[in-house]
Amino acid sequence: MRNTHSILVTGGAGYIGSHTVRLLASQGYKVVVLDNLVFGHELAIVDPEVELVVGDTGDRELVSGLFEKHAFDAVVHFAAFAYVGESVTNPLKYYRNNTAEPLALLEVMQRTGCKVFVFSSTCATYGVPENLPIRETNPQNPINPYGRSKLMVEWMLEDCDRAWGLRSACLRYFNASGCSEDGRIGEDHNPETHLIPRVLMALIGEIEHIEVFGTDYDTPDGTCIRDYIHVDDLAEAHALALEKLLSGGASLRCNLGTGVGVSVREIIDAVEEVTGKSVPLRHGPRREGDPPSLVADPALAAEVLGWKARRLDVRDMVRSAWAWVNGPSGGRFPPNVHPQVR
Ligand code: UDP
Repeated sequence: MRNTHSILVTGGAGYIGSHTVRLLASQGYKVVVLDNLVFGHELAIVDPEVELVVGDTGDRELVSGLFEKHAFDAVVHFAAFAYVGESVTNPLKYYRNNTAEPLALLEVMQRTGCKVFVFSSTCATYGVPENLPIRETNPQNPINPYGRSKLMVEWMLEDCDRAWGLRSACLRYFNASGCSEDGRIGEDHNPETHLIPRVLMALIGEIEHIEVFGTDYDTPDGTCIRDYIHVDDLAEAHALALEKLLSGGASLRCNLGTGVGVSVREIIDAVEEVTGKSVPLRHGPRREGDPPSLVADPALAAEVLGWKARRLDVRDMVRSAWAWVNGPSGGRFPPNVHPQVR
């Protein structure tokens, strides 16, 4: 599909953002990425026609100038901090970055009449679920500032829809995993806290071992259960949400998960099966704030977006992450050359 829409993607040099940017560019969108490169990687933007602007989402002057220049039809907003533990010890950093900065962006959008917003939300807005699988009708009771900082944006978006007709898609991700099929871009966080990349780091000796956070949960094998969703499936959901809103669709909120629960132990087994290596591991205590089980009911996304995760086997997610780690970049992007280079 070719199209003429001009899209601002904040945080487009990050993990999920860069996979989505790549897909949108391939669909013909004119994409401008705004990323402050605090966690983003210049080289995660692989399409030469995608413009990277280095700066903050909350920089009203910069953002206003971009809207004047490009007359964006829509914003896809990824830029956020996502370390749950840090959000507990430094909440204001999260409220500023994850809540106040998009507020500034929304003010510019209201002023310029841009009324389409795709938002990277999270299953962390549900907190500890009372019922599984988690439906969108489950109460949203986040248990940490990260989840709250994201839920507040959902509320702002709802209110802006009522007040000035902003149409938004709040996409509540479960556990983003895997890397692009061709291994050109992938997951590169520093520090890395996520399970699959850390298990791979233990395999290649970057860390001594993986620590399993809790083996006494009330789950079949005693370890936590999560819903791992391939990053390219997430990217496809963003593209569908964008298309839907741009063609006049109403605001929507939905889970993005596979609906399949996988335990920490099963992830380790999958890594051993895919790589043929044995994972050095230790059993440790529970990590504070980890709910035993988080699994999406993805039915609403199928209904409102016509989206379903296509990569259901967690071994495929592990395989792509392993290919990225073993690729020419060794699972790490080269350092950003200069923030203002592109
Ligand atoms: N986990 C673990 N060891 C690690 C990292 C994560 O046992 O070094 C567990 C964690 O307790 C959770 C699951 O793996 O149950 C997924 O954690 P991750 O940090 O990847 O994502 P989260 O679900 O916290 O967003």
